[in-house]
Amino acid sequence: RNSLVWFRRDLRVDDHAALHHALLSSRRVVGAFVFDTDILAGLPSDDRRVQFLLDSVRELDARLHAMGGYLIVRHGRAAQVIPALAAELDAESVFANRDYEPQAIARDRAVQDALRAAGRSLQTFKDQVIFEQDEVLTLAGGPYSVFTPYKNAWLKRLAREPEALRPYETAPHAGALAPAPADQALPALADLGFVANAAPIAHPGMTGAEALLAQFGQRLARYDHDRDFPALDATSRLSIHLRFGTLSVRRLVAMLQERIADGSGGAGAPVWLSELIWREFYMMILARHPRVVTQSFKPAFDAVAWDDGAEADALFDAWCAGRTGYPLVDAAMLQLERTGFMHNRLRMVTASFLTKDLGIDWRRGERWFALKLNDYELASNNGGWQWAASTGCDAQPWFRIFNPVTQSKRFDPDGAFIRQYLPQLAGLSGAAIHAPWLAKPEVLQEAGVVLGKDYPVPVVDHEAAREKTLARFKAIRDL
Ligand code: FAD
Repeated sequence: RNSLVWFRRDLRVDDHAALHHALLSSRRVVGAFVFDTDILAGLPSDDRRVQFLLDSVRELDARLHAMGGYLIVRHGRAAQVIPALAAELDAESVFANRDYEPQAIARDRAVQDALRAAGRSLQTFKDQVIFEQDEVLTLAGGPYSVFTPYKNAWLKRLAREPEALRPYETAPHAGALAPAPADQALPALADLGFVANAAPIAHPGMTGAEALLAQFGQRLARYDHDRDFPALDATSRLSIHLRFGTLSVRRLVAMLQERIADGSGGAGAPVWLSELIWREFYMMILARHPRVVTQSFKPAFDAVAWDDGAEADALFDAWCAGRTGYPLVDAAMLQLERTGFMHNRLRMVTASFLTKDLGIDWRRGERWFALKLNDYELASNNGGWQWAASTGCDAQPWFRIFNPVTQSKRFDPDGAFIRQYLPQLAGLSGAAIHAPWLAKPEVLQEAGVVLGKDYPVPVVDHEAAREKTLARFKAIRDL
């Protein structure tokens, strides 16, 4: 019996549910990955993520070769390529790990229909999460919409069901992999219509994930404290690996449990575990309420009258370009532009600034992040934006508005992060760098900063913007 394992956002060979099940039930297993034109269309030609994906796919192919198998890599519409490939290989079944995004669900349904019509089947498995959308429910049997009770129920279920972390072994069953034909070649970036980015993403593939995990292991115990300071290299940077599945989430949670049990995880380990649970919380929200892609989680907030028109467009452009005149916001937006990464604290600060200081619809910011973030992930990005805009589940209350200067003083106290991205402000002392427009003229002069020339004056006044936002929210009834 032949079967095909369709790799998507699970680019690894170890602890892989679909590969494990295929190897156990078939005699000849072939792997496949499709560079999906439906997804790649519209991306800039030097999109970093495509290069990361290609590097990770190459490593996946090399690992499968080492186990005695191989990977077929195609470029086209997955919904057509996969059924065609299954026919070519005479595969009885296609095995894949489940994806919870609405577009992926529609694609998988189309593939399943096409396979069925040809007498084949699509078999899907839980792999991306510890618990799926219908596995952690309230006593009444419905989905949670507040994080803390969800987290408590999630932890309880894991305590009851420790086998949820059992790895899906693949190596012991590798004898079922079909050997590679002689003429198998992988595409180059140019074959996909892309070019290399001048600042590519470091550490691709399974090897990259291992390296980051090993480094982070040393910082884990301090994560609870250090994670909020963008100038520190305190977080794991594993988000892109969780996005593309170059690392198994089961393995991360098992590692955390060990380090919590032996005490080496300190106060950091339970906090980091909470972050992994946030990831599943937002995936559950997306799977249960796919309307959140375009609508507020709380329908009342769809009545918020966000600003639009030429003035709002100009403010949006200033935000995208890191020219708002608020140094922490601008440094964060430049980090995003130059590296494709943005620290979590700064994602909250910039998202709050766009919606609450500039009065612009969260959906515009969400789309910008989607284009720019290396780790872009629909569920977490949408959840994070709706949290910041106060339109989401368990969101920041609408009347609580981040002050970008206070955030700057608290989380980048000596301006080290700001200086990294705004060297023109490097001469300003700790206090002045957070709000250069408030600095005395002689301080600016000494630092060689001319406001309006070297660095913008603020595009809005925070206090005035705050009042406007409170009025904007108060105008909606049924809050
Ligand atoms: P760590 O601090 O090491 O956290 C470990 C992992 O936990 C992360 O890799 C991630 O998988 C998960 N995680 C951490 N924080 C969150 C969170 N708040 N929500 C959900 N999962 C979390 N994360 C994405 O992966 N993709 C996105 O597109 C994304 N967009 C965001 C947009 C906004 C407006 C906000 C406020 C947050 C967003 N996040 C997103 C969540 C978070 O900022 C990133 O996961 C984190 O900064 C990635 O860095 P790290 O891997 O070093 O995280």
